[in-house]
Amino acid sequence: MTGITNQDAAARARAVIPGGVNSPVRAFGSVGGTPLSIVSASGPTVTDVTGREYVDLVASWGPALLGHAQPEVVAAVQEAASRGLSFGASTPGETDLAELVIDRLDGGIEKLRLVSTGTEATMTAIRIARGATGRDVVIKFAGHYHGHSDGLLAESGSGVATLGLPGSAGVPADIAGLTLVLPYNDRDAVRAAFEAHPGRIAAIIAEAAGANAGVLVPEPGFNRFLVETAHAHGALFILDEVLTGFRVGPAGWWGLERAAGETWVADLVTFGKVIGGGMPLAGIGGRADLLDLLAPLGPVYQAGTLSGNPLAVAAGLATLRLADAEVYARVDAAASTVSNALDAALTDAGVAHTISRAGSLFSVAFRDGEVRDYADAKDQDAWRYPPFFHAMLDAGVSLPPSVFEAWFLTAAHDDAALDRVLTALPAAARAAAA
Ligand code: PLP
Repeated sequence: MTGITNQDAAARARAVIPGGVNSPVRAFGSVGGTPLSIVSASGPTVTDVTGREYVDLVASWGPALLGHAQPEVVAAVQEAASRGLSFGASTPGETDLAELVIDRLDGGIEKLRLVSTGTEATMTAIRIARGATGRDVVIKFAGHYHGHSDGLLAESGSGVATLGLPGSAGVPADIAGLTLVLPYNDRDAVRAAFEAHPGRIAAIIAEAAGANAGVLVPEPGFNRFLVETAHAHGALFILDEVLTGFRVGPAGWWGLERAAGETWVADLVTFGKVIGGGMPLAGIGGRADLLDLLAPLGPVYQAGTLSGNPLAVAAGLATLRLADAEVYARVDAAASTVSNALDAALTDAGVAHTISRAGSLFSVAFRDGEVRDYADAKDQDAWRYPPFFHAMLDAGVSLPPSVFEAWFLTAAHDDAALDRVLTALPAAARAAAA
């Protein structure tokens, strides 16, 4: 115990860091109150500066599939660190990771380039698509988040949705104008966009399953429709698995659709979060002919001082090697336990709600009826979330500080951790009812 409070830590941070945070959703802007200042994490819990421990359903916004500070992952990073932090040169580990990911995707990608963030991965995927097609326009979906590069912030999910922003200042109109934002799950809108811009659309980019405006589940066949429609018009399909990849299953959301009988393959696939096991690592995978457009082989430039960093690669390799069928079964079961209890608690408290679920990812919207797109997600009693969130926090459960975020379970959420969540839910649901 340091005697420091979260308020002290936040005040000190706000004096020198914009908003006191290095990523906007951490600021508790939509739920109010003081963000936790975290000093350590272990398994299913995080511990703040006051020494208080919380069951954590943020999981670093996805990466912590195995739980925090998983001993074998930490040991792999320590061992890598003992051999040097960064070389600015190729390492055998990068190839091991590329082979492992290509193997896991089993036909989904042929090559992989590693970068440090999901933002870089989607930005580069779009550059490849433009380089390959010689076209400029990109289709994205409202409420989908693909990181914070200029062209992808329009009607974006995650913090942009949390803060209720249309996009970002500082994005030149000419760049924003190259992004067409369409309603998700709307096939007519996609067809109409291609008709309205013949020969100009380079790619469609879509989250494999939307999880940044709450969970937006793709309707059956929607991803297949996107691939087929893009190809019919000479455009590419970029599947953004930064959040879903290696989290909802060993081959991401794509793997779940394959298991359900789908045969489509994306041209480019972006990865992040779990691929780095909690360290800064992301990747762009896809067809070899497209990946080979990247420098040094081709004319599309992309680079990074810390790309393929050996510590991040060690964390990613250790995480993916441990992420076996049993891990996914545990995460799925934990997600079912919590989402069923959430449903029951809100029903008992008489609160209108819809729970959307994509694999082990789920979110709650305070409304009746399904949530198909961003307009539905925004059409809810979002004001019910802050009291709900704070009741959970007071009871020692740390939820994502926005109703527009998915809840993340890990393989480390054991019965004791889940019990603490279940015990906290009824009072939180009553707080949401008030
Ligand atoms: N794509 C998706 C689907 C995401 O969820 C995110 C981050 O939440 C990103 C891209 C951007 O990744 P990063 O925050 O690592 O830049």
